[in-house]
Amino acid sequence: MAWKPSEKEEEYYARIEFEKKKKLEEEKHQKLAREEKQRLKELHFMKCPKCGMELIEIEYRGFKVDKCSECEGVWLDAGELETVSNLEKKGLDKLFSVFRK
Ligand SMILES: [Zn+2]
Repeated sequence: MAWKPSEKEEEYYARIEFEKKKKLEEEKHQKLAREEKQRLKELHFMKCPKCGMELIEIEYRGFKVDKCSECEGVWLDAGELETVSNLEKKGLDKLFSVFRK
């Protein structure tokens, strides 16, 4: 008599097969998400979050400020808001005078 797997075993192996394929799919999705993130990062790097035009970066007192070439929005990197908020008014005036036309 040929050995016949029981229903339980078949179910078990089917589930293992499913888990294996699911894991592969999940890895594919994660890879896609990473690639998409990278693509978006490259697409948006140094672009204005408001209007999408090029940002111009200036360095002032050790921190970098990005100013939009189109809508004139000013963007700060992480932690820079605190640095700017610690500047005395004179320093702030100087910073913004860099941008003045
Ligand atoms: Zn802009």
